[in-house]
Amino acid sequence: LAKADGRARYAVFDATRNAQQLLRYGLTGRLAGALERGEFELVYQPLVSLVEGRLRGAEALLRWRHPDLGTVSPNTFIPVAEQSGMIHALGRWVLRESCTAAAAWQRSRPDTPLLVSVNVSPRQCTDPRLLEDVEHALTDSGLHPANLQLELTETVLMQSTGRPVQTLRKIADLGVRIVIDDFGIGYSNLAYLRHLPVHGLKLAGAFMAGIRSLASDHVDEQIVETVIRLAHTLRMTVTAEGVETADQAGRLAALGCDLGQGWHFGRPIAPAGIPALR
Ligand code: C2E
Ligand code: MG
Ligand code: MG
Ligand code: MG
Repeated sequence: LAKADGRARYAVFDATRNAQQLLRYGLTGRLAGALERGEFELVYQPLVSLVEGRLRGAEALLRWRHPDLGTVSPNTFIPVAEQSGMIHALGRWVLRESCTAAAAWQRSRPDTPLLVSVNVSPRQCTDPRLLEDVEHALTDSGLHPANLQLELTETVLMQSTGRPVQTLRKIADLGVRIVIDDFGIGYSNLAYLRHLPVHGLKLAGAFMAGIRSLASDHVDEQIVETVIRLAHTLRMTVTAEGVETADQAGRLAALGCDLGQGWHFGRPIAPAGIPALR
């Protein structure tokens, strides 16, 4: 027991340098069968129009209910799933689940179209089968393509091969919306995005710290204002992520931002709760 204890302590010490790697090592085996065991769950966070304050849809956020660790964050297990290749099966499951949930919203609120916004990881985007997966998720659920939105990170579109862009173009041709997630923390420039099948941007939550008050002259706010204006010129919509206060929501509305998402509007919830929101 003492030996095991010592080893455990060593592992903890080592973790201060290699936390990610150790954690991933421990999770990889368990993750492999998690889909079959039904340990994944999707929760949905409201997307709200800033001017009218009305529900426009929700982002699907993945959770892993680990039997020992409790709920594991996607920031921890998505990189592991990408590395192992499991992301393809997992991503397919996420697409199907999300489209099925949104088709149910559509049935319970036929006159107010609600978007479901689905995160797609970089490795999924380089797989041409993504197109088929999207098509199947739409036909099997009966969801209207215009009510599906895919969230990609900007690095995917900056890849030189052009393969992901071809696949995304075909997906966009189905009528599905494509947005750039966490915009502003990477390298994309808006002028370049103009040539890509991109319908909108989600401003990284990191900007929200600079969006504080009506009299704010913080430089982040000026950046946000410039991005919104340029995005609109390119006919793209802008969603602000990580909106935590009423002040931020009001300021973003004044800056012309289209949609907001964050704790101020609502935490992620089970899919059945979404159609009841206004
Ligand atoms: P993301 O797509 O940028 O999602 C936004 C994250 O911000 C979510 O974290 C959400 O819970 C959190 N958030 C929402 N409102 C607030 C707020 O007001 N303040 C703050 N501080 N945070 C807020 P979550 O659910 O832990 O997801 C983390 C990331 O994992 C996501 O970032 C996304 O990149 C990835 N992810 C989630 N679900 C999936 C999935 O199904 N597939 C893939 N490939 N990636 C996923
Ligand atoms: Mg996202
Ligand atoms: Mg984001
Ligand atoms: Mg993210």
